[in-house]
Amino acid sequence: MRFPLTDLLIEEAKKFELRSACGDCFYWRTSHCAHDWPDEGQRRWPLDAPDPVTGERPTEVAFCKEFELR
Ligand code: SF4
Repeated sequence: MRFPLTDLLIEEAKKFELRSACGDCFYWRTSHCAHDWPDEGQRRWPLDAPDPVTGERPTEVAFCKEFELR
């Protein structure tokens, strides 16, 4: 699921220590998803990490419906 990456979302993610990326997911296996889901942006952490190609702040964030906190 994709949402706009707003300043409020970034602020609340930090305030409440949100965990939503693959690195904190039970299904993450060192370098890939155990389900082989493609990376639609859910691996990015922190949420506002700059795009590695453009260096710009992303405008959207992706949350995976299969995420399970480890
Ligand atoms: S289930 Fe989703 S959040 Fe978990 S590792 Fe796979 S793609 Fe990432």
